[in-house]
This record gives sequence, structure tokens and C-alpha cells, in this order.
Amino acid sequence: MTVRVATEIAADKLFDYAVPEALAARIRLGQRVRVPFGGRTIDAYVVETAEDAAPVSALPDLFTLSDRSDASDTSDGARPRNLRPLLSIEDDTPFLAPPLLSLARWIADYTCAPLGLTLRCLLPAAVRNRDMRAKEQLYVSPLDGSFDLTPRQTDLLANLRRVGGGWLHSLTREFACSPQTLRSLAEKGAAVIEPRQLRRDPLANRKVLPTRPLPLMPEQAAALAQIVAALESGAPEDAAQPCRVPGKAPKPILLFGVTGSGKTEVYLQAISHALGQGRGAIILVPEIALTPQTVQRFASRFGDRIAVLHSALSDGERFDEWHRIRSGKAVVVVGPRSAVFAPVRDLGLIVVDEEHEPSYKQDETPRYNARDIAVMRGHIEGCPVVLGSATPAMETWLNVSKGKYALARLTKRVEGRPMPRVHIVDMRVETARAGHAQLFSSLLLEALKLRLERGEQSILFLNRRGYANSLVCPSCGHVAECDACNIAYTYHQADTCLRCHICGGWRHVPTACPACGDPAFKYAGFGTQRAETILQKCFPQARVLRMDADVTARKHSHDELLSIFKSGRAHILIGTQMIAKGLDFPNVTLVGVLSADTSLHMPDFRAAERTYQLLAQVSGRAGRAELPGEVFVQTYTPDHPAVRAAASDEGFEPFAARELEERREGGYPPYTHLVCLTLKGASEEKVRFTAEAYARDLARLAPPPAVLVSDACPAPLAKAKNLYRYQILLRAPAARAMTRPLLRLLAQTPPPADVSLAIDVDALNIM
Ligand code: ADP
Ligand code: ZN
Repeated sequence: MTVRVATEIAADKLFDYAVPEALAARIRLGQRVRVPFGGRTIDAYVVETAEDAAPVSALPDLFTLSDRSDASDTSDGARPRNLRPLLSIEDDTPFLAPPLLSLARWIADYTCAPLGLTLRCLLPAAVRNRDMRAKEQLYVSPLDGSFDLTPRQTDLLANLRRVGGGWLHSLTREFACSPQTLRSLAEKGAAVIEPRQLRRDPLANRKVLPTRPLPLMPEQAAALAQIVAALESGAPEDAAQPCRVPGKAPKPILLFGVTGSGKTEVYLQAISHALGQGRGAIILVPEIALTPQTVQRFASRFGDRIAVLHSALSDGERFDEWHRIRSGKAVVVVGPRSAVFAPVRDLGLIVVDEEHEPSYKQDETPRYNARDIAVMRGHIEGCPVVLGSATPAMETWLNVSKGKYALARLTKRVEGRPMPRVHIVDMRVETARAGHAQLFSSLLLEALKLRLERGEQSILFLNRRGYANSLVCPSCGHVAECDACNIAYTYHQADTCLRCHICGGWRHVPTACPACGDPAFKYAGFGTQRAETILQKCFPQARVLRMDADVTARKHSHDELLSIFKSGRAHILIGTQMIAKGLDFPNVTLVGVLSADTSLHMPDFRAAERTYQLLAQVSGRAGRAELPGEVFVQTYTPDHPAVRAAASDEGFEPFAARELEERREGGYPPYTHLVCLTLKGASEEKVRFTAEAYARDLARLAPPPAVLVSDACPAPLAKAKNLYRYQILLRAPAARAMTRPLLRLLAQTPPPADVSLAIDVDALNIM
């Protein structure tokens, strides 16, 4: 018998090993094994097995076929004679259950990523790390019976029986005794002291008050019924059967509900139903929305049956959470995109909240979109998938209209609360009146004043951190730019320096224009810091909180700022898009979008969609409780369809219909798939030359009209961190129509050593 494995060391290749007779019966797909590698012994994961007679079958993964070049490599397709044997099996229960291994293969194939790298993404580093262990500590349990004890020991035993046992180190504090006293109890046979596993609990210091299911509004009840029907339909007739029918999943359901319509309550009750069937659930939320508020809502309902995965976990916490999930102790997993790989046993339901969020897309290899992976995992495991959004992605909306996805709607806010009133403020008029660019219109200032007087709260949104966009010379027009990235520096007031938001580089503010020497070098544009300063000047009595990447770099500052705001100790919260999502503050009655134009003028065919989403989400933060909400959207393009749509009562659908029509005419996603190739290198000449050659070859290999290949062009972000960037965009009705010829081409003509190439299938960010 032979196996093909993925290793830690060379993740872009797969290797073959022989299986010793003694181990053959225990070998399973997805298992962790030890193999000899060069002069070392390393961990590897079994991705394929084959009986002795048959050669290891060809994976549908082109990287695998072209990249096997180890001593154990199979040349010309024949099986080599002298495979080295693998040494041992580390875990009899595979680390990667068969559905997850299938999922990994699909991702590797679809995104053009090496399978080894993809597996690395499925298993957290803390879990792959051999040196990580469960944490053990001494635990003291009392025993029944009567013993010959001193009076002090008798007291201690009574106390111990009262609390039922505990960790040695905390009991010594609780009973004010020495460890030796507790040990003497054990010596007399009255207690047992043994090492036990101590869970490193990311929620350890949170107070979690249990909640009960709310009586549902009629629309919520209908949506829940639809999800429950899907849960029931997929369930095997024989309840004892461990798994649903793979590949026979019910249709994914889009839960399309306006902001504040109670989607989360529907998720919670759907999850309860899955748990009632003895199955587990995964809830994906955008990382930025993974606030204590969100976690709290799930923890309150499901207690310690939940596991939380997010980027701020320590390795120990991550290790323990992963193993709690794998062992079935935790059955509800809440986390950002990587949680879609959680090893939940017998998965019953996957929920993707805010499914339209671009942050579900991973921006390094494998470049997967967790929303799409969720749908695929549901398909493989035969379980329903619920995608929730107030502003669905065009891809999802088209799938609904094609009947591929089912639709459940929540058109009203809970308890009949009104949607906020949205006013568009034409900043051209404001600027003309003041004679220069304004950050705050008089209308918005008036509205803020009113909230301060009434003791209500406001949220202001500005998608640029820092103080000013740039430094511009009033006499020669020179703009201070980062040399490594050729984009304008942002001025940061706190440390009075210029920072590049691409590479993080900085320099001191020049005292005069470097081009013409004029000392009147001036700030242009506005960032959150400047907005804060202006607000403080207008409303000296107001407490203003600022929230952006500059203040939330510390681990808990994000949570702290939100809890200050929630407690009412601040009147105005100003921030970047990190405040646009998911926040639910009952006392917020005013939302101001300081500039709706930032996202509109991105060189991206999704600019209108993004702007609409952003405006609808931000507006959704207002008037979520009894107090009605009001929204002011400041813009220099008040007639733009995305701005108009976000302000009108017509809602999402007419906007989506127009947007889809434009995409269809232009041949853009979701009517085509888009593959973005980015080439990077220090020599612009070489990058351009390589890109142009690929564009020519691709146009020949994948000719129109089946595939549209763009010219090789400088990327919108043409230079970053001293590397020049060129792009080729491919569009076709099916991704594989592009990736197949592309991989064949790359196998024949790999890029030169000093030019790197990234393939992004279904790219969301084409900067
Ligand atoms: P969404 O996720 O759709 O924006 P939420 O789930 O955050 O909406 O719900 C908005 C608010 O309404 C929350 O405070 C939630 O507790 C409350 N809510 C949800 N469903 C109900 C219900 N059936 N009855 C009363 N309040 C509800
Ligand atoms: Zn830079």
C-alpha cells in the first residue's frame, strides 16, 4: 500500500510513501502521520491512499501533477519502486474528516492553490504544532467515607465536599490553606489529587446571562419554518445514522432582512433546532463584527456549548477550542471566515451573517471566499446553509433569481419600528455657501446639537483615518507621496508625521514644499482625527470617541471603546468602516455619513454596490430601539443611483435590478467569473514584459468569446512597497474555463524568478 501526503515543510508539493504492512489496516484519509523527509522526521497528512497494485491515482490538481520532484516522486506517471516507508500513525481518528478533505481538494482546485497550502489553512497552526498540549493542572476531589482526621483537616474536607472539588491552586486561596494541607487529606485517603485538563477559555472573564428564545414576529416565524423544513428534509430517516446524504443538501437559503429585522434571533432558533437533532452548527460573522456584543448573543443562548474562534485568540485558546469542537464538547462555533473549516461533528447548519461582506475573502493563497466555501461544505455534508444580509451580494441575488438559492424575507423591523429617515445633503451647496470645503454641513451640525440636547447618541462615519488626506502645496500643487508606493501620504496629527497607508512607512512633515520651497504646505481633505478635532471645537461639552485602526491596535481597545459608548459615557462615536457593521445601540438616533463619495470613486465595477451596502449598513445603526432614527448622507454626487437608492424607500430590489442589468451588459460578475492575475517585481520593465507575454499567450490559449482577456495594465495601485504591480483580468462564464488554460500555461512558462504571480479567482479586490 502507498499513500500520498501533504507536509508542513514543502506545502506546495505532495509526496508518496510506502505503508509498512503492520500499519496498513489502520491507515485512513486525513490522518496525521510521521514520515522521513530529507534527514529529518516530520508530520504529514494523508491525502490519498492506494493499494499496492494500483498507482496512486492522479488528483485533479494540476500543481500536484507538475510539482512532484522529490526522491519519492513519480516520474512519467509510473510508480517508483523504492518509496520510503512512513514511520507511524499519530492520530487514529483522522485530523481531517473526509468531508473536510474533500472540501480542501475542491478549494485547491477551484482557487488554483497547492493542496498542501490549503490543508495548512484548514488546520490552525496551534493544532498542527507538535509542541502544543492540553494544559493540565492538579484537581482535588473529595471522597466519601469517614477518615481519621485532625480537626483542621475535618473542616477542610467539609468545605471541599461543599464545593464538590476544585483546582489545587484556587482551593488554597479559597480556603486559605497551604497545598500541603490539601495533600495531607489525600494522603489520608479522604481526597484525590490528579492532573486534569484545564480549558483555556476565551470567554472566561465574561459575564454571560442566559436568554430564552423570543416569541417571533410573523415574518421571522415564516423564515424559521423555512429553515427548519430544510433541516428536516436533509435529515436521514434513520436517526441513528451518523450523517446526512452527502451531496444531497437542500438549497442554500438567503435570509434577506432589513437592518434590525431580527435575523440573529432567527439564526439562534434555527441553531437550537439543529442541536435538537443532535447536530452542530457554524456561524460565520465578519471579523470586524465579532464584537463581545455578537459573541454574547450566542453565548447567552448556548452557554458553554459554544466555541469562539477569532484572530485574537492565544495559541492555547485556539488549541483547546479546536479540540473541544472536534471531540463534540462544543457544538456551536462562532467565528470569522476560517471558522468555516471548524471540525464540527455531524454538521447540521451553517449560517453566514452579512454574507455580502468582502472580508469573507482571504487575500492570500488559497484565495477563497468563506461564503462560497460554506455553500460547498453544506453541499458536501448535506446540510442547509443560511446566508443572511440586508444588502445581498449581486452574486447571491442572481442565484436567488435563478432559483439556485431559496429566499426568506424579513421586510420589517421588529415590533414595527420604522426604518430611519435618510436625508441626502448636497455638499456642493454647502461648499459654495462657506467658500471652501466643509466636513460638516450645517444640517448635520444642527442634528447633532439636537441629539446632545436630548441626551441621545450619534454615530459618524468617515472612511479615512488620520488627520488629513494629504499635504498639498498651494503654489505648485506638489503632493507629499510615499516613494515606495507612489500614493499620497496621510497626515497624522497625534505624532505629527506623514504615514503611508499601504506600506506603513512614515516621515516627518516637511517645513516647506520639497518641490518649490513654499512654506505654506497645506492639509487637504479630512480624516477621522481631523473630524474629531472639529467636533470638539463645535461642541466643547460633548464627549467624542474615535474608533479606527490607529486607536484599536491594542488587543482589547475595540471592546473597551464600544462598552464606553454603550454605557452612555460618550455622546458621539466617530469611526471608519469598523463601526458600520452589526452594532446595536438602542440610544443611537442619528447617523451621519460624512462623505459618501470615498467608495463611489474607486476604480472598481463594484463601486456602486459597495456604496449602497455601506450606506444601508451604516444607516441601519440608527433607531434600532424605541427611538426613531435619522440619517444624514453628505455627498458631492447626490444624484448617483447608489446614493439615491440608499436614501429612497424603494429599498434594495430596484437598485439590484438596475445594477444587475449593467453588469449583464458589461459582461461583469455575477454574469461572468473574474480571475485577476497580479504580477509583481522590483523591475517595472520586467514585470510589464512578463505580464504582456502572458496576456498574449492567454488570449491565444483561451480565445474570445469564451474567455475575455484584458491587456496587461498597471494595477490601480501601481506600486506598493517598492514593487511594481501589473494586472491581467480574465472573464468567462465558468472559472475553470480560465484556470485550466492558465495553469497549463504557467506549467510551461513559469514567471521569471524575480517576478511573482498571484492568481485570484472570483477576485473582490482588484486594486
Ligand atoms: P438584524 O440582525 O436583522 O439587524 P437583530 O437580530 O440585531 O437584527 O435584531 C434587532 C433587535 O431586535 C435586537 O435587539 C433583538 O434582540 C430584537 N429582536 C429580535 N427579534 C425580536 C422579537 N421577535 N421580539 C422582540 N425583539 C426582537
Ligand atoms: Zn508606502
